[in-house]
Amino acid sequence: MLRLVRAEMSSIKKQATLAKFFSSKKRSVEEEKSHEPAKKLHSDPIGAGSGSPSSSPPLATGSSDAGSVKVETSATSTGENTKAGTPTLPDSDEPAKRAVAATKGDPAKLGASAPKDSKILYAEMCNVFNEIEGTSSRLQIVKLCGDFLYSVLLKARKDIVPITYLLINKLGPDYQPGLELGLGEGLLMKTISESCGKSLQQIKARYRELGDLGRIAQEARAVQPTMFKPKPLTTGEVFSNLQAIARSQGKDSQLRKVQLIKRMLTACQGLEAKFLIRSLESKLRIGLAEKSVLVALSKALLTYEHNGKEPSSELVDTAEQKIRDAFCQVPNYQIVIETALEHGIMELDKHCVLTPGIPLKPMLAKPSKSISEVLDRFQGQRFTCEYKYDGERAQVHLLPDGSMRIYSRNGENMTERYPEIRISDFIADPARTHTLILDCEAVAWDKEKNTILPFQVLSTRKRKGVAVEDVKVRVCLFAFDILCYNDEPLITRPLAERRACLERALVPVPGELQLASEVTTMSLDELQHYLDQAVRDCCEGLMVKILEGEESHYEPSKRSRNWLKLKKDYLQGVGDSLDLCVLGAYYGRGKRTGTYGGFLLGCYNQDSGEYETCCKIGTGFSEEMLQTLFDRLSPTAIPTPKAFYVHSESAPPDVWFEPTLLFEVLTADLSLSPVYKAGTSSYGKGISLRFPRFIRLRDDKTPEEATSSEQVVEFYESQSHVS
Ligand code: AMP
Repeated sequence: MLRLVRAEMSSIKKQATLAKFFSSKKRSVEEEKSHEPAKKLHSDPIGAGSGSPSSSPPLATGSSDAGSVKVETSATSTGENTKAGTPTLPDSDEPAKRAVAATKGDPAKLGASAPKDSKILYAEMCNVFNEIEGTSSRLQIVKLCGDFLYSVLLKARKDIVPITYLLINKLGPDYQPGLELGLGEGLLMKTISESCGKSLQQIKARYRELGDLGRIAQEARAVQPTMFKPKPLTTGEVFSNLQAIARSQGKDSQLRKVQLIKRMLTACQGLEAKFLIRSLESKLRIGLAEKSVLVALSKALLTYEHNGKEPSSELVDTAEQKIRDAFCQVPNYQIVIETALEHGIMELDKHCVLTPGIPLKPMLAKPSKSISEVLDRFQGQRFTCEYKYDGERAQVHLLPDGSMRIYSRNGENMTERYPEIRISDFIADPARTHTLILDCEAVAWDKEKNTILPFQVLSTRKRKGVAVEDVKVRVCLFAFDILCYNDEPLITRPLAERRACLERALVPVPGELQLASEVTTMSLDELQHYLDQAVRDCCEGLMVKILEGEESHYEPSKRSRNWLKLKKDYLQGVGDSLDLCVLGAYYGRGKRTGTYGGFLLGCYNQDSGEYETCCKIGTGFSEEMLQTLFDRLSPTAIPTPKAFYVHSESAPPDVWFEPTLLFEVLTADLSLSPVYKAGTSSYGKGISLRFPRFIRLRDDKTPEEATSSEQVVEFYESQSHVS
């Protein structure tokens, strides 16, 4: 009983804290207190609330505990201790700002020494970058990074968030718009030339030799006479300048950007110019992947929490998992770090929970090659087969103020791409539904024929600044999961319950919002029949998901074995397509003269942050597509391969590119190769795709979301002759 009460209180506290993410800045604590009990009244979406007295609302009600809400709310919202300092947050990230304000705590509570008000010099950080660049061992890289982060916590705790972002080469959470630097090589060359006393020709010539603007800037600064020693740059200064550059828009923005870069460049000494320029290019290329930074951060925070005592390896593993889980639900370093500092890492799961307005990392599926493989895997368990729609992932959030946001698979805010969608039109009980997070697929829809249209039609829609009256390609949302209802996270509820909740929460409207078609069967014949039907209905195949028990919980960011995708076309191949990054191209001959005739593709190594070549592709392209590719890729051509391309010297492409574009590719099989480099660390030799065929462009994925080297190795090993 006591445990039940505690659990209830903790759930209420979560809601109370979360409510502050969205409450208006000016809303008083009192208002908040009075708001909470009303919300709690409808917080039992599954309908499991104790003895619901209501007649038959779409979502049954649970009991409320106004008293405990008041206590918890006032305790968390006063947030008296704000000594810890506030790292720079984007102005527009209101949910996050309020979350951070709510989690401010006293470091002494965790036994940590109070932070000194010192600053971390940019030179210190560059030394660490340089050491990491010279190291190939991942363990050593994590150690260097972890030691540095720990020293930051001791010396200047307020800098830990900006420094973490500088390490992963980002300026804020992915879901925050306007934080991409996107500075072209041309602009950077011109700026280096103007501020370092070299002609543009000299810079260009050297770039052809080195292929690294960072080193060129460093060289140029080293020989530049200076009248007086510049004031040293601090990490905080660099971070806020980078943010200002990214945010600078409109008339004269180019000029303002150049001025800011020049100002920083003139203050650069030693290694600083090299890393500053690389950061401005959005690629540090020191072999430090975000995954490693997360591990290093866990270790640093844990050591700090333990007053410098070396924690056991078990504890480090648990901390790492806690931080990873928290980050999957709230992909915002500021919130995760501040919460860990206030409440301790082991308490993160109680505080960093799903929050409408902050996209979580979506769950992904493993490929599967045959229906019998699916039946083997899910033997003895109830599972469901849903249509696998061929569109774009859309995570739909309803916020407490009634507004809606739609996030893409990589957490980008895509709301303005779909101005015709209003989630409030489909809510069964609007008066009682304050917040929601739905997992959906947005699919192009033919309004006349009432059918799904192919993905290619959807991709003709503009991505930004779409006005309702200009929408030509209609979209239908197919909802297949509900992850949060009235602030209550549902991801640890069985899928069967989540689906029941989804059905109660929404009123589908054909052609606008529908629930994913599904069937629950254990029969091979029925499954085969359903797969055929899905394909006839213009879907890619099926998604097969476990329905009950822990394995059916929603696992954010994980490519899980509990969701299997069964794509009709790929059954006899390797079970799935791969999304590979275009690294280079070969000029076309004959009919293809004037465009590129073939492309060099690579997968992404998430540990090293490098692209590893895995095939050359020339099949599957229409003439129009080749022209489109020529037009899109030529402006991204670079004279030499990036330092983070792992490739062989034999058969280099005629042109190298910046990593910008992904191809979805099918392959007959995979084999070991002396020429290609994918997954070299596993087999000594690389793995390559045989007879690859182009399927389509993947504009919905970033280059770093390419199929990973680890997945390529898995595909290779899953082939019957290898296993
Ligand atoms: P893939 O991109 O091939 O790894 O397939 C996973 C994608 O399928 C997800 O990211 C969704 O965008 C999409 N999808 C379509 N229908 C479903 C469904 N019923 N359940 C889950 N994902 C789906």
